Amino acid sequence: MAKKGRVFSGIRPTGRAHLGNYLGAFKNYVALQEDYECVYCIVDLHALTTVEDTLNLKQNTYDLALDLLAVGIRPEETILFVQSHVPQVTELHILLSMVTPLGKLTELPTFKEMVRHNPNNVNYGLVGYPVLMSADILLYKTDLVPVGIDQAPHLEFARETVRSFNYRYNTNVLIEPQMKAAEVQKVLGIDGKEKMGKSLNNHIELAATPEETRQRVMMMVTDPQRMKRTDPGNPDVCNVFTLHKVFTPKEDVEMINVECRRAGIGCVDCKKRFAESLNKTLEPFRAKRAEIAAQPDLVPAVLADGADRARAIAEKTMQEVREAVQLP
Ligand code: SF4
Repeated sequence: MAKKGRVFSGIRPTGRAHLGNYLGAFKNYVALQEDYECVYCIVDLHALTTVEDTLNLKQNTYDLALDLLAVGIRPEETILFVQSHVPQVTELHILLSMVTPLGKLTELPTFKEMVRHNPNNVNYGLVGYPVLMSADILLYKTDLVPVGIDQAPHLEFARETVRSFNYRYNTNVLIEPQMKAAEVQKVLGIDGKEKMGKSLNNHIELAATPEETRQRVMMMVTDPQRMKRTDPGNPDVCNVFTLHKVFTPKEDVEMINVECRRAGIGCVDCKKRFAESLNKTLEPFRAKRAEIAAQPDLVPAVLADGADRARAIAEKTMQEVREAVQLP
């Protein structure tokens, strides 16, 4: 069936993925494959802007690729590759930087936030992050980029960069990508307060064993007003209930919704049920992950093939770009 266009998305190599990655991005990545030609890039160069110790970079890249394949990314049709394996992106980055006013970069809210988080490491790469991101997207003549509302300014930046470049060099070689508003689900961590993430150690890894998963679930914070088993609870403010709605059969969710409010079910039992639902959902993922991991050459081969296919598109774009810029 003919695809509707090309989708691009970059994913930072943060190692083994967690529930937040799955619900916030991966689930959508898998679904997009049905209708679009998908290009998914593990952005190791971007990671260098904030990661000082690169000791785990290779392993993290491997683990992320393994999780993506296990979750349902189909490398026969989707291009899955590592950013630094396609050096054309750094060439486009430098050319795009020539049409990018510095003030525009330092005014971006995301830059200011990054500076707040890394006050001792405000490097040139951090400032130019959106330019490299634009190069990622534009190199593959992307039609659509799935983004949540918080990333919308970056996509708008890429679109403006296209206009500046095409105007400066009197060309139409770069195309403006459109935003594909993604249903990004913000997943709270087991603390029930902050967004799930590794840095806060409030995550549940997809590849954890069933027992490890159960232990993490039992640590989850529930309705903070419910102090005793006999107190009625409020599922509307409980993160366990929010996740039950994603992973637990509907009739059980309805039962919990009613019983929690009249103290008919306790939080310990409720969490045990959630751990069961989650483990059941993750069973096929774990089986597939183990199967792929048992073939150590498979992930590197997928990434090498992805890089070959990505490079072919990238080089074609760069030939047009070099010509437009009139590089000798
Ligand atoms: Fe949350 Fe379940 Fe406890 Fe209700 S019973 S507060 S839904 S964990």
